Parts: sequence; C-alpha cells; structure tokens
Amino acid sequence: MNSHDAGAQNAGRRHRVVIIGSGFGGLAAAQRLAKADVDVTLVAKTGHHLFQPLLYQVATGILSVGDIAPSTRLVLREHKNITVTLGEVDKIDVANRTVHAVAGHIDFDLPYDSLIVAAGANQSYFGNDHFERWAPGMKTIDDALELRGRILGSFELAEITEDEEARRQLLTFVVVGAGPTGVEMAGQIGELAHRTLKNSYRRIDPADARIILLDAAPAVLPPFGEKLGEAAKARLEQLGVEVHLNAMVTDVDSTGIEIKDADGTTRRIGAACKIWSAGVQASPLGTMLAEQTDAEVDRAGRVKVNKDLSVPGHPEIFVIGDMMSLDNLPGVSPVAIQGGKYVAKQIDRELAGKQSPTGRPPFKYFDKGSMATVSRYSAVVKIRGFEIHGFIAWVLWLVVHLAFLIGFRNRLATLFSWGMHILGDKRSHLSATSRFVYGRRAIDRVYGDSIASSLDDRSPGS
Ligand SMILES: Cc1cc2nc3c(=O)[nH]c(=O)nc-3n(C[C@H](O)[C@H](O)[C@H](O)COP(=O)(O)OP(=O)(O)OC[C@H]3O[C@@H](n4cnc5c(N)ncnc54)[C@H](O)[C@@H]3O)c2cc1C
Repeated sequence: MNSHDAGAQNAGRRHRVVIIGSGFGGLAAAQRLAKADVDVTLVAKTGHHLFQPLLYQVATGILSVGDIAPSTRLVLREHKNITVTLGEVDKIDVANRTVHAVAGHIDFDLPYDSLIVAAGANQSYFGNDHFERWAPGMKTIDDALELRGRILGSFELAEITEDEEARRQLLTFVVVGAGPTGVEMAGQIGELAHRTLKNSYRRIDPADARIILLDAAPAVLPPFGEKLGEAAKARLEQLGVEVHLNAMVTDVDSTGIEIKDADGTTRRIGAACKIWSAGVQASPLGTMLAEQTDAEVDRAGRVKVNKDLSVPGHPEIFVIGDMMSLDNLPGVSPVAIQGGKYVAKQIDRELAGKQSPTGRPPFKYFDKGSMATVSRYSAVVKIRGFEIHGFIAWVLWLVVHLAFLIGFRNRLATLFSWGMHILGDKRSHLSATSRFVYGRRAIDRVYGDSIASSLDDRSPGS
C-alpha cells in the first residue's frame, strides 16, 4: 500500500480513482483499471467517447455520428468497478481531493484518492475568439454537424440565389490551418464538389466551388516534412483546392475573411463558409490545477508534468493526453492512449504493493508514426524514417483507423460506409437539420450575444 492510499486504508474502503474525460486518454485509463482493486468514476461532459480523427467524415456526410461516438456507458458496462457519470467539471479542489461537476441543473462533488485529468483541448483562435462565430472549429459532434449544415447549406443557397456576388461567396469555402484536419476537410469538400454532388443541381455546377486552404506557415502538414507536405499539396491542387501559404488570417466576418500575406499586403476573400482548424488550447482545468500546485502551464495551457505524468508535488494527480506537456510530445491519440494505460498501471501496481510513487518508471512514448488522408486513394504516412504517400499510404490509413475504432458494430458500419463511398461514391449522411444549422444563433440569443449582428446575417448556419 502506498502513501497516497492512506486515506482509503484508514476509512476501510477501496481506493477511489476519478477520471475526468471519456476521450482517448480517459477511456484507456478506465479500461486498464477494470480489473484493479479500485472504484473508478469516469466523469465527462458528454455521454460518448469520440473518435476525433474521423470527425471530418461526419462533417462531410461519409459517416454517421454513432459510427464514431459510442456511448461510454455501454463501452464500460461490463466493468462493475467503473461508474460513468455525466458532468462538466468546473472545479478541482486539490487540498480536499475533490472534483466538482455540473450536469444540467444538478451539481455534485466526487472525492478521489487518485485523479486522472484527461479533459483534452479546445480550438484556439489565438486571442481572437470572435472568429469562432463565423469560422467554427471541429472538436465535437456538434461542431461536425454544424459544419455539415454550413457546407451543404452553402450549396443549397447558391442554387437559389439570383445575386451573382452572393453565389460566388456561397461557393467559396475557406479552411484555415493546413495541418491534418485542414487538409482532410479541404480534400473532402473538393471531393463533394467534384464527385458526390456532380449533376445534382440544376442552376449551379458544384465543381465551380472555390476551395481554399490557408495557413500562416510556409508548408502544408509541417510535422510530416517537406516531401510528404509537397505530395499532399500537389494532390489537393489536383482536386482543385487552392493552397495559400504564408497567409495570416487577420479578421473573419459573416461574408468573408481578411488575410495578410508574407509581404505585408492585405486582401479579402469573400466566403460564406469558413472552417477553423488552426490551433488548440488545453482545457482550462490545466490552469486551475497549476494555480493550486507547483505545476506550470505552457503557452497552449498544457500542464508541464513530471516524467511519471503526475503534477509536481502531487503524485496522486496525473494529467494525460492533449492536456499534458512533456518532452514535446504531440497532441495525438496514441500519446493519450499510452498515457492513460501507463498511469492506470502505476496506480494498480502501487495498490498491489509492487512499487511506491517514488519508484515509478518514467513514461515512455512509443511512436508508431503519423498519417493523414488527403482524398480518396491518397494519404501520407510517416513511420520513423519511413515516408510514403499515395494509394498504399491510404490503405494503411484505412486499416489503422478501422482498427482503432471502438466496438465491432462501429467498425462494421464504418467499413460499410467506406465501401459505399469508395466504390460508388455514395455518402449516406448528407442530411442537415435546421437545428444543426441554426443552433449557434439560438444559443447566441439565449446568452444575449450579438443579437443585433445576427438579424441582418444572411449566411447559412450563422
Ligand atoms: C478533428 C481532429 C482530428 C484529429 N486527427 C487525429 C489523427 O488523425 N490522429 C491522431 O493521432 N490524433 C488526431 N487528433 C488528436 C486526437 O484526437 C487527440 O490527441 C486526442 O483526442 C487526445 O485525447 P485526450 O483524451 O487527451 O482528449 P479528448 O479525446 O479530447 O477527450 C477529452 C474528454 O474530456 C471531456 N471533457 C473536456 N472538458 C471537460 C470538463 N470540464 N469536464 C468533464 N469532461 C470534460 C470531453 O468531453 C472528452 O470526453 C485529432 C483531433 C481532432 C480534433
């Protein structure tokens, strides 16, 4: 029995582990603790786990929500020592070892002996949060459905408007951020315009759509290196996507986007549909932890953790995944999954008396490589020194993503949807309800934000 378990031992109860978040890190930790002698409470602000890497396929109608977002409760139901609780954590009380959460009109406390914080990251607008209204990011199911509504809504309005200038704006799509998500989104809008929607409108030709991928950096997919970045750029250009590099966004509004180029000149692109995939900011729970401990946060709000992923001075608190900063590890799902398994193993071993917190081996990340799709039949893969792009990379991408999806049914449904999409170019999920499209405006109204500007707004989904 280790020192941080003294409370449980004295009270004659099992060690309580609270996990915040049901994403890659939180779920991996919970699954690893399923057979440990502990009581686990997993609290998350959604009732589902989310496979974020395939969100763009929900946004562009290839997959349904259920395929990538299984119910966490059902995933963990066989593990009797795990309780799944809906709740948004708004306070961590380090001194009293308690987490406070809110769900609807109910709020509650969760006491813990060990705490695993895996609340992920949100979109970052680099201090320009007002951009979000006109250029939503893609972090949640709500985001993906709203974007689906905006993309499809733009084509629909372009078909009926009599105003040439408005039609041009509606058929211009701007994706900000040329990382994997931006590349995937731009590629899929290109495929929608050129293949899926072909011959389905009478007044417009969807292939006239202008799709622009912008980035302030000088390269596409910088972490993949020059060769793969160039290959991805060339493939996007074949699909009709314009790639604008060294282009910094300075403003976003309902009808367009303002840009400053590397030579200092400014320009405006008229576009109804803008998508933001340019940066991330860790959950504010990281800063909350830092304020109560000796931990520091980096510029993205990530907690600088010890080698064992614990918070300095608090061996009972672990921060994992997109919320942690350690050895420049990237914000990708394998880091979160391996971190979740690692911290769960440390807790398990310490309760079994096999080690003490001071004897923990350092977390070692095993880098299995990175991959991103560009379009049908085209992806880029970097595994250690080995770089490939094109068809084989795309097949590898398919296999890996299928393998990592949670649940047999989800894999089967995804495989079926992919088959339909690849062989027949069918997208079964091209529907958008007005709730997807107008939800943001309704929320703005409830919270009294920007009511005046929403009244004269004519762009879809705003
Ligand atoms: C669009 C997109 C595409 C991506 N593509 C790839 C890819 O191709 N390959 C790859 O490896 N990685 C990819 N990533 C990154 C990867 O998804 C993340 O690195 C990974 O999800 C991090 O896992 P996590 O557990 O730290 O956080 P998440 O998976 O983000 O989970 C966070 C959890 O915390 C919950 N939560 C947040 N705040 C609170 C709160 N206050 N209270 C309670 N619960 C809370 C959330 O509801 C969620 O359940 C992508 C990310 C995005 C957004």
